[in-house]
Amino acid sequence: MIKVNDINFSGKRAVVRVDFNVPINARFEVTDNTRIAAAIPTIKKIISDGGSVVLMSHLGRPKKEAPGAFPVKFSLKNIVSELSGLLGIEVKFTEDCISDKAFSMSSSLEAGEVLLLENLRYYKEEEVGDKVFAQKLSAHGDVYVNDAFGTAHRAHASTAIITDFFTGAKASGLLMSSEVSSLELVLSNYKKPFTAIVGGAKVSSKISIISHLLDKIDNLIIGGGMAYTFFKAQGGQVGNSLVEDDYLDEARKILKKAVKKGVRVILPTDSICADSFSNEAAQKIFDTKDILSGWMGMDIGPKAIKSCKVCIEESQTILWNGPMGVFEMSNFAEGTKQIAYSIVTATERGAYSLVGGGDSVAAINQLRLKEHVSYVSTGGGAMLEYLEGKELPGVAALK
Ligand code: AMP
Repeated sequence: MIKVNDINFSGKRAVVRVDFNVPINARFEVTDNTRIAAAIPTIKKIISDGGSVVLMSHLGRPKKEAPGAFPVKFSLKNIVSELSGLLGIEVKFTEDCISDKAFSMSSSLEAGEVLLLENLRYYKEEEVGDKVFAQKLSAHGDVYVNDAFGTAHRAHASTAIITDFFTGAKASGLLMSSEVSSLELVLSNYKKPFTAIVGGAKVSSKISIISHLLDKIDNLIIGGGMAYTFFKAQGGQVGNSLVEDDYLDEARKILKKAVKKGVRVILPTDSICADSFSNEAAQKIFDTKDILSGWMGMDIGPKAIKSCKVCIEESQTILWNGPMGVFEMSNFAEGTKQIAYSIVTATERGAYSLVGGGDSVAAINQLRLKEHVSYVSTGGGAMLEYLEGKELPGVAALK
């Protein structure tokens, strides 16, 4: 896979697929610029070489509205001033990604200039991966760069199909490259002991990841709501805790496979339970296999925290996806917090730690620990599919 750093962009016009799918408030302002900031190094590399940049992205899911009448909240115009501020140059904008005006603007870009195209998803052709649409987009430049790891699991016109129209001149952006190399470090070049910490609400969304990881890891820590399905699968009484009854068999299969592969599974032996799903609910600690009816597990308990900490702090490679409890409620955030601190300790001792998946990233950011772990993936769904062992169309198309 060619990387942007392998190319000198002097005199070239790069078409760069970015992920500017950022939250926009009622006043059409960007409320979290993380994704825009993440694309800046790639854009800067191209313009500092003396190239020009045509940026394309989607924003939200505007497909249900009538064509030509999309609400303002879906317009990428909303992000122009934020992007211009972060880049330190005035970014140009065109109100349709494939209009004559758009092509005349892109073809007259001078070295060092940046043009942002309007939301690609104003065309249904984007998501169906239409070839004609992809070919039109490709006419905006002579080199294709994909820096949108967050949408790399989709075979859309701008993320995968478009590469058919660039012979040779296609590269991964800096964000895309670091996402892929950190995932590869964990999946292919890991040091042992390797511990995966999987939490969050549902077993169903994590089964394939766990199953794929069992071939590589030494320890599997299971926390969050999904732990209760595992306890129930082993005959435990989990009270009113979150359980996916359809997945009891799957949970048993995972435990069996772990034994076969020699993977140590650490389930939370105790839980902080509540008598309702509320931060103000009454609390009580139960052994997780013996939770009384009327009580639900909301966080891992103190004994569980202790055994997780020992395991994490002895690890050389750590992958964390999903919180240990309902961390959005301050009274049930301690388990997630302590796991995050342990990952930081292990990282300080030389371990490689990768944190990914919406809610664990939110937890790491909330605790201001982003700079204290090895890598925080912005990938979301794309990262999860990578961890399942799937080849991502957006990555495959760059090869
Ligand atoms: P996921 O998107 O599957 O990683 O799940 C994240 C969500 O799981 C968060 O919103 C947490 O509040 C929720 N969660 C974590 N632990 C529990 C639990 N014990 N019971 C219910 N929800 C939980």
